[in-house]
Amino acid sequence: MELTVLGSGTSVPHPRRSSSGFWLQTNGGTILLDCSASSIHRMAQEDLDWPGLDAIWISHFHLDHCGGLAPFLFGTKYAPGTQDRMKPLKIFGAKGLRDLITKFSDANRYDLLVQPFPIEIVETEPLESFEILTGVEAVTYSTPHTEDSRAIHLRENDATLVYTADTGFDETLATFARRVDLLVMECSFVLDKPVEKHLELAEAIHLIRRAEPRCAVLTHFYPEWDSVDFDKEVKQFGTGLEVLQAFDGMRIDIGEK
Ligand SMILES: [Zn+2]
Ligand SMILES: [Zn+2]
Repeated sequence: MELTVLGSGTSVPHPRRSSSGFWLQTNGGTILLDCSASSIHRMAQEDLDWPGLDAIWISHFHLDHCGGLAPFLFGTKYAPGTQDRMKPLKIFGAKGLRDLITKFSDANRYDLLVQPFPIEIVETEPLESFEILTGVEAVTYSTPHTEDSRAIHLRENDATLVYTADTGFDETLATFARRVDLLVMECSFVLDKPVEKHLELAEAIHLIRRAEPRCAVLTHFYPEWDSVDFDKEVKQFGTGLEVLQAFDGMRIDIGEK
C-alpha cells in the first residue's frame, strides 16, 4: 500500500495545509480516507486517478473531513473523465452518512446519487469488520471526539495501517493500533490543548509508545504548529520510534506494495 497526504491541516484555512484527506493505493484499488472540500482538488494536484477512485472512508461528520463529498459527487456527475465509468463508488462511514448526503442533495435538488455509475453507501458499526476493497480488511473503532467519530484499521496481506482521524486521548486506541506498519494519528495541538476532544503532542507520543508502530505520522495540525520545530519537540520524548510530521504531498510506502 502507498499513502499520499492530501491534507495535513484542519478546518482553519492555511496556505500549505489543506483539510483532511489521504489517498491510499492498494492492490485492490484506491481509497480516499476523509474527503475535505480542498482534498478533492488536491487529488488532481497530486496527479491521482480520482475519476477511478474506488472507495471513500468518512471518519466523522465534521466538515473538514466530509465537506468535499457533495462537491465531489457534483463533479463526478458531469466530469468528462467519469461519464464512461461503470464500476461503483463505495462510500463508507458511520450511521447518518446516507442521511447527510441525501439532505445535502435534496437541499437544491442536486441529485448527487444519480451518477453515470452506481454509488453504494455503507454505514458501519464500531468494531465491525468489513471488506472495504477486494483483499483489504477494515475494522473501525469509536473515538472520543464526536458521537460518530471512528478510527479505522486497514490490512492488505501483511501490510497494516491505522488512521485515527480526530480523537481525544484514549489508551485503548493504542491497543487498536498495536504494531501496525503505519499509524496516522492526529496531533492538533502542541501543548495545553484547549479542548478534550483532540490530542496534544505528549498524548500522541504516549499512544505511539504504547502502540509501537513501525512508523507514526502525525497530522491535523492547527496553525500554532507553524512556529514549532517538530523534530526537536519529538526528540525530547526520546521514543526511539520513527515519528514523522505529515505535510501535504508526503508519500509513504506501507509494507509490501
Ligand atoms: Zn478535523
Ligand atoms: Zn473533528
